[in-house]
Parts: sequence; structure tokens; C-alpha cells
Amino acid sequence: MRKALTVILLVAAALALPNAADTTAWFGTPGPAPLSDPRAPVMKYDDVFAPLPARFTHRPGTFDELLDAAALKADQKKIVGFSLESLGAGDKVWGRRAATPAFMHTIEWAVSALKAAGLNDARVETYAVPGTMWVPQSWQLQVIGDPAFGAGTQTVTLRSAFPQPGGASIPGGTLIAPVIYVGHGTDADLAGRDVAGKIAVVRVRPEPSLFGAGEQGVALKLAKLGAAGVINAIEGPGNAQYIDPRFACGQAPCFMVGGQDAWFLQEVIGKAAKANLLDRLKVGLSLTSREQDGLTSANGVATIRGQSDTRIIINAHADGYFQGGDDNASGLAVLLGLARYFAKQPRPKHTLMFVASGGHHGPGNGPASLVAAHPEIKSGTLLILNLEHVAYADVVRGKVRAADNIGMSWETSVTESAKAVGVTNESPFLFDLWKQASRCYGVATYQSAGTTVSGDLGGYRPLNVPMTQMIQSGTFYHSSGDVYEEVPAEGLERAARFHAFLIAQADAADERLITAGKGSPYQPMAHPCQ
Ligand SMILES: [Zn+2]
Ligand SMILES: [Zn+2]
Repeated sequence: MRKALTVILLVAAALALPNAADTTAWFGTPGPAPLSDPRAPVMKYDDVFAPLPARFTHRPGTFDELLDAAALKADQKKIVGFSLESLGAGDKVWGRRAATPAFMHTIEWAVSALKAAGLNDARVETYAVPGTMWVPQSWQLQVIGDPAFGAGTQTVTLRSAFPQPGGASIPGGTLIAPVIYVGHGTDADLAGRDVAGKIAVVRVRPEPSLFGAGEQGVALKLAKLGAAGVINAIEGPGNAQYIDPRFACGQAPCFMVGGQDAWFLQEVIGKAAKANLLDRLKVGLSLTSREQDGLTSANGVATIRGQSDTRIIINAHADGYFQGGDDNASGLAVLLGLARYFAKQPRPKHTLMFVASGGHHGPGNGPASLVAAHPEIKSGTLLILNLEHVAYADVVRGKVRAADNIGMSWETSVTESAKAVGVTNESPFLFDLWKQASRCYGVATYQSAGTTVSGDLGGYRPLNVPMTQMIQSGTFYHSSGDVYEEVPAEGLERAARFHAFLIAQADAADERLITAGKGSPYQPMAHPCQ
């Protein structure tokens, strides 16, 4: 009787818990997590300690309130809203992808905001996009079930799987192949391994972001070694989607999966190997895609006329993947705040040219198209300042071991992640201005500076004028985790106020201080913090 009751209770429990079979399925590994909601933050951002406050005084009559955190966040929210419009429209690679309707709406809105700020010449400048845009239409990544992996083992779908640019439609729709785990995909990891015909799983550590990850290019290398496909398994918070061409492998099917799916894959590969069943573990990939041509993209351009026609260009790319909360709604919001602010200041010495650019993620390059369309800026530009990823929250490894993710959990600190400062000509004066970023404005930067200016400035390089920026890519770079909430309001204000100082100082200075290169004699200026 008691035995019968136990059986009844067990059956009842099994019925109540749809995942009860998980105790044996997949070697006892809990099933893969759902996709992290791309409309919501992956992490908590409002815990015990609030972000480092931004306390700046408003000087009467100087319109400092135009650079307040709340005003900047309102613009950032509006910009992110264009991405959500794209998500709502069912775009597969959603966001403010250059040349798409959501991107064009972003540019049109930015131009109307610049006009409303009093920049009367604000306009949309369209350009034809050379080449094509890769558009995936449908895809799926499944780990194929086998009863040998435990009773109740069913085929599971990894919901965070995202195909990487260039992947062509798979002939016949689906490719099923055995998996091979290749660690970080270094030559040391690959010693004695044969990836031919298999789907290789690479563990990618975005440290501090995909931009700085050591596994860039590994997927392409594996495809050249004959891998049938590659899964870049990201070590990251939650179960986000990622896209980045540096993890693609030409036309072969390459995917990225988020942190929890990466953990599931790693677990079942390890357990299958331990049980001597690795040769039975297979993954199924499906993908259809097409290349779209005949596209038009755009820059948004406006100026504040100075006493001289010589320009200072202030640039922020308006395109981005997913919400692009930091990349680059942050930079574009700061650009708009600075345009409103300088429109209210006394006439500058130089003409300030604001560019909401078509970006560099493709298709088409915004700055390169601007340079081609405006021969006059070739000789008449003093300095180019880029606003890009200006206030990512600082993500750190946490205090507890994650139960369904690789390693320790993640948390945010009370400040923004440190940004790399670049000044292409190493002007001592410009470096001196950048010293005030941390000292007077609380902007987190590296302690070093250099000549590297990655990001949107590449298209301006032919002008051969000094260019400067600060940039960081961050944990959620090019992922669905790069959301509105992940950019602290205080960080946006710190960035905006520092850049207002930088532009005002550069505008007022002797031009020779800006063009003077490394090692030029220079007397550091006294810059009292306000
Ligand atoms: Zn980007
Ligand atoms: Zn960017």
C-alpha cells in the first residue's frame, strides 16, 4: 500500500514538474535556459549601492542643464526605441542596422532634434551602399537527443543561438554533425585534434569584451581546417544573443550562443565524453539567408557656424545591433546634448560640425561617405572627436559560483567600465585635456593613452587630421544585453560634461597646440575643476 502511494506521489510529481525527466535526461544536466529577454536588462542594475553620483553645479546663464543626466537618458531611451521598433517589426538582425527603416528613422529623428536645437542646416545626407547586406531569414541550433544520454533525453534547442555574418543557406536546410570541443581554439588547443566534418565548439571569453577577445578569427581558422560548422560559446552573463563578424567563418554556418547555453553545451560534452558516448553527441544546424543589394544609407549632418570656416567635427555613429544602449545610443545622446549646449554658447572660434553617422558595422561606411561627399572638409578640418560607447556599466565577476553558467556570477560595480583614450597625433595639449576627464569629471579611463582610435573614426583617416576619442566595448558589446539600463545616467552626464570642456578648450586654443605631435614642447595648463 505504502509502495503504491509512493508511486502515485512520484507520478503526480512528474506530472506537476514538466522537467522532472531532467533528473536523468542529458546525464542529469538541467535543460538549456530560455533566451534572456532582449527588452529587459540581463543583470540587476539597482542593488545596494547606487552608481557613483554625478554632482555638477549649474552655472547661471550657461545652459548647463542641457547636459543633465535626465535629459541625456531621455534621448538615449528615444534612440533605443528605434531598435525596439525593429524588433517589433520582426527583423531577424534587429536594431538600428544601417540602411534599415529603424536606422533611417533614427537619423531623421536626430536631424529633427538638431534642427530644434537651432542648427538650421541640419539635414539627412543619403549615400548609396556599395556591396550587399547579409540577411539571415531563419535558423536553429539543436543538440540532438539520444536515449543513451539518460532516460527522457529529448532534442533541445539553444534559444540564444545567433548566426554570424556571411553564413550561407545550408543546402538541404539542416546539417547534423558530431561535436568537437576545442577550448579557446589556439594551436595548443588544436594539437592532435581533427575538426574535419565536425561542429567545433569554441569557448570565447569576452575580456573585457568581444572586441578584446583572444578567440577572434578562431571560427574562420576552424572552417579552413574543415569544420562543418562552429559554435562560439560565450562566457557571459545570462543567455544573450551576440553578433560580430570577427567570430564568423565565411559562408560556413557559424553561430554564437550566450552564457547559459554555452554552459549547457560544455556540460553535456564533458559528461558524454566521461561516459564514452561523445561520438554519439550531435548538433543540428539550420540556416537560410540572403544577400540584399541596392541599399541606401545616411549620415545626419548639422553645423554651428564659427568665426572661422575651419571645423571641429564631432561624430557619433547612429547605427547599432540590438538595443545598442551603449553602442552607440550613449554616444549619439551625448552628441545631441552637446549640440544643444553649444547652440546656446557664444559663437565659437571654429565651426562645429555634428555628424550622426551611418556607422562602420556595414553596410556602407558613414564617415567615409561623408568625406567623399564633402571635399571642402579635406583642407578645412582641425580636429575630429568621436563619441562612442561612452558609459558602459562596469561588469565584474561576482561573489558566488553560478549554478548554470561558467565560473563565478557577474555583477556591476558603482562606476562605468574604464575607457581607452586615443589621440592619433599624440598632441601633448590634447593629452593634457584628457587628464581632466578623470580628475575633474570622474570619467573612468585607462591610466595609459595611445594613438589607437578603433571604432567609427576609420572612415575619417584619409583627412589626415588629429582625431581623438575614448572608447570601451564592455561585457555586452554587440549583444542583446547592451540595453538602455546598462548605461548609468551618471556616466552619461560625466561623459557629456567632460566633452563639453574638451570641445570648448580645443576651440579656444591656439591651433598649433592641436596639430603639434608627440614630443612638441608644451607647458601644461592649469585647469581648475569646476
Ligand atoms: Zn559596434
Ligand atoms: Zn560603436
